[in-house]
Amino acid sequence: MESDGGSDAYEIRQKIETLKASKNDIERQISALDAQLQRINNNENNHIKTKEKVNSNDSSSSLTLENNGSFDFGHGLASDMIYRYSRQLLLPSFGVQGQANLLKSSVLVIGAGGLGSPALLYLAACGVGRIGIVDHDVVELNNLHRQIIHGEAYIGRSKVESAAAACRAINSTVEIVELKEAFRTTNALDIVRKYDIVIDATDNVPSRYMINDCCVVLGKPLISGAALGLEGQLTVYNYNGGPCYRCLFPTPPPTTACQRCADSGVLGVVPGVIGCLQALEAIKVASYVGEPLSGRMLLFDALAGRLRIVKIRGRSLQCEACGENEALTEEQFREIDYEIFTQTSLSTVPLKLNLLPVGSRISSKEYRERVVKGEVHVLVDVRPAHHYKIVSLPKSINIPLPSLEARLPEITSALVNKDDSKNASIDSNVSLYVICRRGNDSQRAVQYLHKMGFSSAKDIIGGLESWAHDVDPNFPTY
Ligand SMILES: [Zn+2]
Repeated sequence: MESDGGSDAYEIRQKIETLKASKNDIERQISALDAQLQRINNNENNHIKTKEKVNSNDSSSSLTLENNGSFDFGHGLASDMIYRYSRQLLLPSFGVQGQANLLKSSVLVIGAGGLGSPALLYLAACGVGRIGIVDHDVVELNNLHRQIIHGEAYIGRSKVESAAAACRAINSTVEIVELKEAFRTTNALDIVRKYDIVIDATDNVPSRYMINDCCVVLGKPLISGAALGLEGQLTVYNYNGGPCYRCLFPTPPPTTACQRCADSGVLGVVPGVIGCLQALEAIKVASYVGEPLSGRMLLFDALAGRLRIVKIRGRSLQCEACGENEALTEEQFREIDYEIFTQTSLSTVPLKLNLLPVGSRISSKEYRERVVKGEVHVLVDVRPAHHYKIVSLPKSINIPLPSLEARLPEITSALVNKDDSKNASIDSNVSLYVICRRGNDSQRAVQYLHKMGFSSAKDIIGGLESWAHDVDPNFPTY
């Protein structure tokens, strides 16, 4: 008798899902209770203001005992704080004063992703007084290789909620402010106003300009970091008369030069390195220790294992944000449309082109039906070769879009080989389909193929993502 392995596995998976849901719920409750307890403790500490002098013969002693039984040593650090931060207090250049400054400071981290994750962990651990976290995204499985503040239990839940819980778990004495919203000109000023220092941990050009301008308007130092692929960079803008982002980049880069991790890839540890350095710069600015990286830029090349610091230009008098004559006002800031200015969308939803007539496109479901019916066809996959190696549909030919022109003869011979009538024309009866990751490059390819006489070429709408979504849920996405 055969055992019913399929249904056993199904039941086990169901049980795991149910248990995971209960686990998430319990963690959410713990996190909320932690925050509640934190608020109660803070209120109690604020109320205990009356201090009793220690029963001592030396009436001039500054050592006092608070009503809650802890000593005040004149620098504001209670016993448990002295122990917690002792390794930092032991640094002569940092010491008690650096720590006291840090405890009084507030840092806003915009983006709880690859850069924000390590930055937040270190800021919470080292004792920044108040940390704000802005993000409107949820945790996804493909974030976890680099966004190390989030764990599997938080997949599908708010990044802010996840990051806040992790920060509180490390250091319950730090105040964590959760801002589960998108950072836009409508809320930017109200949010940034409440903090001393801003960390830009976003990954797109419109946000960079918006955050820069907001910091200039409100006079806040901006710790800016970026990481893509195997390279990263870091600098401090708008600090002590130094330049702002617009001083260096008065006009946005061409949209073709703007890449995101979702398209170009990134090795997880690269934003990790830059995020740690952003925390370090924020700590230096907040504690008034060291020489913040203003007027200089750090460049990190992970493959070569090289860190370089280059001098960058100083503040520009003509800068449209911080220049002498054109200092930006709050009203002007609210009016700027950063998506129009940079020609780039703030949304992370990928662009969906619509370049072809309906007759030159088929859905992934329709393509599947044609394959099942045994339709003789050629499928060209125009993604880059390293994408094709990750996953591909059976019997597809990989011809990356940039090499399409040079490799047209391969398509012709594939069509001819499949054509029983051995019709040597590119206009044979054999169907020609083109696919890519999301259905944009495949349309560009079909446009070109039509121009070159392959009039039957059709694009598969939505590419492999729609195949995975609508036809085969087990087909991997990336
Ligand atoms: Zn400027």
